[in-house]
Amino acid sequence: MVMDKKNRKIFSDIIKKAKMVDGICPYCSQHTLLISIVNDFFRCLTCGGDIEQKVNGKINYIPVQLEEFDEVKKDG
Ligand SMILES: [Zn+2]
Repeated sequence: MVMDKKNRKIFSDIIKKAKMVDGICPYCSQHTLLISIVNDFFRCLTCGGDIEQKVNGKINYIPVQLEEFDEVKKDG
């Protein structure tokens, strides 16, 4: 796989913007690290499941399907 400059820049932008939180993943039920990919959407570093963070008095994580990020995966 060849990473051109543009892809590398996008990747570093993602890393710069990313934030990590720990929480319980609804997919694998592990207490794990979740990496923020955009806004309130997180990805489990254990199983790769996409999760939406809902703050409603307490933080809940719910499973989501992010089709646009599947496309990014295919390209990268
Ligand atoms: Zn998980």
